[in-house]
Amino acid sequence: MQFSSKLLEDAVNEMAQLPGIGKRTALRLVLHLLRQPEQQTIGLAQSLSKVRAEINFCQSCYNISDKKVCEICSNPNRIGELICVVEDIRDVMAIENTSTFKGLYHVLGGKISPIDGIGPQDLKIQSLVNKVKSGEVKELIFAMSPTMEGDTTNFYIFRQIQDYDVAVSTIARGVAAGNELEYTDEITLGRSIQDRIPFETSLKS
Ligand SMILES: [Zn+2]
Repeated sequence: MQFSSKLLEDAVNEMAQLPGIGKRTALRLVLHLLRQPEQQTIGLAQSLSKVRAEINFCQSCYNISDKKVCEICSNPNRIGELICVVEDIRDVMAIENTSTFKGLYHVLGGKISPIDGIGPQDLKIQSLVNKVKSGEVKELIFAMSPTMEGDTTNFYIFRQIQDYDVAVSTIARGVAAGNELEYTDEITLGRSIQDRIPFETSLKS
């Protein structure tokens, strides 16, 4: 791709580093931003650098938060001994949208995937195991996406905690295999949490 401007080329190259954005799309987006009122593009740039510089992760559940402890973890009306284990914050958002879950979350930050070089130590697993060991958790609900990596992650965590006094369940698979949680409609997702099944039962099926 030949550029008439080095500034344009740099902007396109930066944009093309985003997932799913090729150079052509990057060029289209940059040209679009150039056609927008200047203040709008500046606003976008400022909010991106602000979110990057100031964003926090909740020190308890690792959800993205503006405070040290997120709104969910610090809400006294939530059930602290019920923890829903999810891959990333998009899953928290999807489950919160269902308005059916009153417990807390634990955001792992991904799933175990040897092909991608992601092992248990790359995820927030140890802190979850520590929560269970401390006795503050009565039930863990696995709400990982129904993929091989999701299953591997569930099983890995289960093995770490199975000797402790904690119930472990997994959301009902109304979700077709391979689907991501965030694309599941709210009613199905809400029901799959309410209809959760003991994790060990899910292993036998
Ligand atoms: Zn939190």
